[in-house]
Amino acid sequence: MYNEIIIVGSGFAGSVMARLFAEAGKRVRLLERRNHIAGNMYDYTDDNGIRIQKYGPHTFHTNIDRVYAFLRQYCVFDEYHLKCEAIIDGVATPSPFNFKTIDQFYPAQEAQKLKSRLVEYYKRESATVLEMLNSEDCDIRAYAQFLFDKDYKLYTAKQWGLAPEEIDPLVLRRVPIVFNYKDTYFYDKYEGIPQNGFTALFENLLHHPNITVQRGINALEHLQVQEQDRVMLFDGQSVPIIYTGAIDELFGYRYGHLPYRSLYFEYERLPQKSFQNVAIVAHPADAAFTRITEYTKLPYQEVGEQTVIAREYSVLYDPHNQRGNEPYYPVLTEDSKRMYEIYKQYADQFSNLVLCGRLADFRYYNMDMVVNHTLSVFEQISNSDFAL
Ligand SMILES: Cc1cc2nc3c(=O)[nH]c(=O)nc-3n(C[C@H](O)[C@H](O)[C@H](O)COP(=O)(O)OP(=O)(O)OC[C@H]3O[C@@H](n4cnc5c(N)ncnc54)[C@H](O)[C@@H]3O)c2cc1C
Repeated sequence: MYNEIIIVGSGFAGSVMARLFAEAGKRVRLLERRNHIAGNMYDYTDDNGIRIQKYGPHTFHTNIDRVYAFLRQYCVFDEYHLKCEAIIDGVATPSPFNFKTIDQFYPAQEAQKLKSRLVEYYKRESATVLEMLNSEDCDIRAYAQFLFDKDYKLYTAKQWGLAPEEIDPLVLRRVPIVFNYKDTYFYDKYEGIPQNGFTALFENLLHHPNITVQRGINALEHLQVQEQDRVMLFDGQSVPIIYTGAIDELFGYRYGHLPYRSLYFEYERLPQKSFQNVAIVAHPADAAFTRITEYTKLPYQEVGEQTVIAREYSVLYDPHNQRGNEPYYPVLTEDSKRMYEIYKQYADQFSNLVLCGRLADFRYYNMDMVVNHTLSVFEQISNSDFAL
């Protein structure tokens, strides 16, 4: 019988897991390398009372009932429907592109014809740009080509650090093209932002007598691989360990470095109530940054004649650089997927180790996906020998 379960990382994967084990009567020690909890969901209120999300703009959205039911125990969600725009030829148009986009870029009669054609042709609310580029209808193809050249191709190139001509339409970001005037980014059953912010949600999750949180601790300084018995030791002891950090870092990069894209943000406080129409505006063509987030619109915050914006830059991940030293997006290629599988097979040999989360699983998860996955992993391991 173990006294304590070690959990590494206080993002959704680590914090949800900590709470589940705590509720099941286990004592949990949660180690976090940063000086704050909440992983990439961390937000804070700046000196002027504006809530900022430090690691980029996040809104909660899901169609999964059990995820929403679980999180609602720890926060009140204020309903919030994210709206975004993209700048094309200097014009701010809704993103996902909708019928307003057609009205903005086509003469009235042609716009009417194209909108009717799209409704008749697809008989549904949206399609991907890839589908439309392959349409038999030449007007639909021409519209898709316009959006591809002015937005998808340029944005994707900036986001992944490629030349626009290298962009294969197959790797395009999956923002659909919408055949009506709906102008919200998601269409999920539940969409919102915790009333007191994401960090407060994590504080509630971790507030339990069975949970001890230690910040500013790099777990790798306490972990040691015992190769012979395939055991992961924590301070020399074999105890159950749940690791939500990067799998390649955990094993000292023995099979190589997994590739990531990183981001950095330039913040600016402006003496005006509003800077842009909506919370997030993409800039596919006209700047080095990919998008601008206006935090007084995420959620809507009344703070007088001032606002804060963050310009977001996408860069190669390099742990030694001053900028771009956070691994944000796994770069999924045939090579990187193969490398991950080798790490995974090795990790699976350690019976006292469970990996969970976006860095440990080398996957892009939305927050509902990571919570749902964590609930499933807990169901599996709580009925196994892992934590007995
Ligand atoms: C720019 C951006 C925007 C996004 N927007 C949305 C959105 O709008 N909606 C949505 O649903 N999802 C969004 N996501 C996805 C969301 O951020 C993730 O699903 C979520 O943060 C994953 O949680 P996690 O626990 O797996 O990882 P993380 O939040 O990264 O947590 C991992 C934690 O482990 C810690 N750690 C790592 N190694 C160690 C170590 N050795 N010792 C101690 N601690 C360690 C890290 O410091 C970190 O705190 C977005 C992602 C990005 C990149």
